Amino acid sequence: MPVKDQFNRRFKTLRLSLTDICNLGCVYCMPLNIDTKQTEGLKKPARTVESTLTSPDLIKLVGRLHTLLSLETLRLTGGEPLLSSQLIPVLHGIKKFGIPAIKMTTNGFLLEDKAKALKEGGITSINVSLDAVNQQTFERISQRQNLNKIIRGIDLALDLGIPVKLNAVIMKGINEQEIIPLVEFAKSRNIQIRFLELMKMGHLHNSKDNPVFTEADILRVLASQYLFEKLPRKASATANLWQMSDNFTFGIIANESSPFCTDCDRLRIDSEGNMYGCLSSNIPIKLDNNECDSEWNEKLGLALSHKQLISFTGSALSMIEIGG
Ligand code: SAM
Ligand code: SF4
Repeated sequence: MPVKDQFNRRFKTLRLSLTDICNLGCVYCMPLNIDTKQTEGLKKPARTVESTLTSPDLIKLVGRLHTLLSLETLRLTGGEPLLSSQLIPVLHGIKKFGIPAIKMTTNGFLLEDKAKALKEGGITSINVSLDAVNQQTFERISQRQNLNKIIRGIDLALDLGIPVKLNAVIMKGINEQEIIPLVEFAKSRNIQIRFLELMKMGHLHNSKDNPVFTEADILRVLASQYLFEKLPRKASATANLWQMSDNFTFGIIANESSPFCTDCDRLRIDSEGNMYGCLSSNIPIKLDNNECDSEWNEKLGLALSHKQLISFTGSALSMIEIGG
């Protein structure tokens, strides 16, 4: 029986980080150099260019966790998962476990190069993080150019029949003006978009003046242009969903103003094989393939006990380190 806590929460979704390096430098995710006010790579050298676990290790780890937890979803993430040469071998290796959904979160920068291999590897859907469709705003946030390359990647994935959703972190005074253009972009491709509230992680953790743009703020902007109704929330869902009169749906992931800790089912593993039961916990629990199932179950119980009861508190580790 999968481990459960007293609130009946159990792990059903595994977010597995394949690398802690990235080819973008998003201002809310990458460490910030206080002198230059620019984001930069992780201070310590990236643990390795990719996971310290080999693809056979990763495949074994996923298989064992699926046996213990009956996973419903595996999400491959990072850092930027498309930078990892383990991605495609891992995808092929985990097919045999029969996990119902194998998803990926990516910045999309390399999607046009890898979409075909992802499709062949059996990916079931992809979330692309896209915070702006205006080139200058995109560049201000990601510290990179080439927005068009990402858009080409999204279009190719859709052409290949891979379901795509968009994720956009909205920040006050930085990209709130992108909310409507992003919705129009999503509508033009008939794909769902989810807006994320900024989370106080990494260098934002103890900062008092984070440019948070709340769920209520986002809804106010959308209401100036569209009519929509709230949909019932699905159990363990990260996003609250709304539907417009033309059936287009959008979501808001409101970690700060509408946390979903009470039925959270997510387990994270970073690219060194450390497990985290909660984004608000920066206590790593090392998983070792040489340990027996009862040792893993004990560790899974400990990770579950790290989950918050009510609200997200943030963490000194950023998403790029824990795995987003
Ligand atoms: N590099 C990939 C990408 O950007 O999609 C995968 C990893 S990234 C850490 C996963 C998600 O975390 C992205 O959608 C990103 O926008 C989000 N993210 C990172 N730091 C965040 C923060 N402080 N607040 C809200 N979302 C954050
Ligand atoms: Fe890279 Fe994703 Fe973090 Fe942006 S959010 S810096 S793309 S890991």
